[in-house]
Amino acid sequence: MAAFLETLTGPDAAEQLQGATVLLPIGAIEQHGPHLPLSTDHVIADAAAKAIVAQLGDELNLLVLPTLAFSKSNEHAWSAGTMWLSNDTMHRVLDDVARCAAFSGASRLVFLNGHGGNSTLLNVACREARLAHDLLTFLVHPFLPPAYSPPRPDAATSGESGMGIHGGLDETAVMLHLAPDTVDMAKAERNVPEWLTENEHVRFGGTVQFGWLSNDFGPQGHIGDPTNATATYGAELFANAISVLCDQLREIATFTFDTAP
Ligand SMILES: [Zn+2]
Repeated sequence: MAAFLETLTGPDAAEQLQGATVLLPIGAIEQHGPHLPLSTDHVIADAAAKAIVAQLGDELNLLVLPTLAFSKSNEHAWSAGTMWLSNDTMHRVLDDVARCAAFSGASRLVFLNGHGGNSTLLNVACREARLAHDLLTFLVHPFLPPAYSPPRPDAATSGESGMGIHGGLDETAVMLHLAPDTVDMAKAERNVPEWLTENEHVRFGGTVQFGWLSNDFGPQGHIGDPTNATATYGAELFANAISVLCDQLREIATFTFDTAP
């Protein structure tokens, strides 16, 4: 069954972890512009984990760990309040979690990543844990910002030109749905780097990866246009994301490498 690991007793955990899929939600404490709280990625990852447990019920042998509050947010290191783990520390934390999951008898480890800036490191961690701890490892996202994925088909018409990567329309809408009291729409303003959209390759979602810091796009901290965000749109995005995540987890739960000759 799907459950939060910390609610079990030790003996129950010992039994339920055998062959289980362990899911680690990963948040962040980092600046998200003047209109969203530092906890934005944590709120979203945590809510996604809770919704997954509620929706999957008894369907899968899935054990969910407490949401990791801090992660690799050094693209926002310039901003007070951003609490980030170094690349090395984060990698060691993930390796420790993987070792404990494997020691406990789990067969699969899934990183549910709420912060896009972790994605590259998490891909590396998946392979390291596969080799070091013989786990099957996976990386899923409630929302993958365009900085880390190919442009969405509606990027040109969304009003953000595929640049809504941090505290923009989608993320703000989801927060209006999940934690409206923490959002200050009076302070939401457009901050889309129009100059970057003129590039064919060196851009978010382009064919050339580039190192960037969030204050490379101005002092506001967010990148995108949150001004049209609504709770209704956020509820729709969140429901779609949970539906996709549950489908992904169903496939993950039975995935094995086909080594038959
Ligand atoms: Zn975020």
